[in-house]
Amino acid sequence: MFKICSVDGCDGKLRSLGLCEKHYYHHNRYGSVKGNRCVYCDAFITKKGEYLKLRNKIIPNCCWTCYTKNIKSVVLKKSGNKCICCGEKTTQFLQIDHKFGGGVKEQKEIGTLRIWGDAFFNPKKYQILCANCNLGRELNGGKCPHKQKIKTKFSKRLTKERYKKMEVWIKKNFVKLVIQH
Ligand SMILES: [Zn+2]
Ligand SMILES: [Zn+2]
Ligand SMILES: [Zn+2]
Ligand SMILES: [Zn+2]
Repeated sequence: MFKICSVDGCDGKLRSLGLCEKHYYHHNRYGSVKGNRCVYCDAFITKKGEYLKLRNKIIPNCCWTCYTKNIKSVVLKKSGNKCICCGEKTTQFLQIDHKFGGGVKEQKEIGTLRIWGDAFFNPKKYQILCANCNLGRELNGGKCPHKQKIKTKFSKRLTKERYKKMEVWIKKNFVKLVIQH
């Protein structure tokens, strides 16, 4: 007679820690004898999964595959779900942008997925832009052409107002000059 696994209903042969081969494996790999399963797809969640602790704070009890599929929409929801420049709402067009630069460097160092993760914890560091506005901003020295158009209109209006003021001033002073002479 060999000793059997201590898990209820399991009669597997004892391997170690009072567990059979299968349950010992679950214990080691998943951190529990029954294994932690993803609440979305029922796959096992590896105990030593890539930054699992942080992942759990963003999307709890989620496997790596489901995490990679959903991290973007979770962060988007948290940050208003639209381009902050033009209001574009289509998820596929939306991107994460580093407000204060350094995006290319960070992309190389930690990659897009971790950047989305970081955006969950440090929303002030990032902003949501659509691909159009993001590119426009890049090609236009940090300012989306959308914003420049508004600025140009504004400054034209200002110039007109100034011009009118100048006209009024000239008329007033011209009259004064005429009277003085
Ligand atoms: Zn067992
Ligand atoms: Zn899953
Ligand atoms: Zn946009
Ligand atoms: Zn824009």
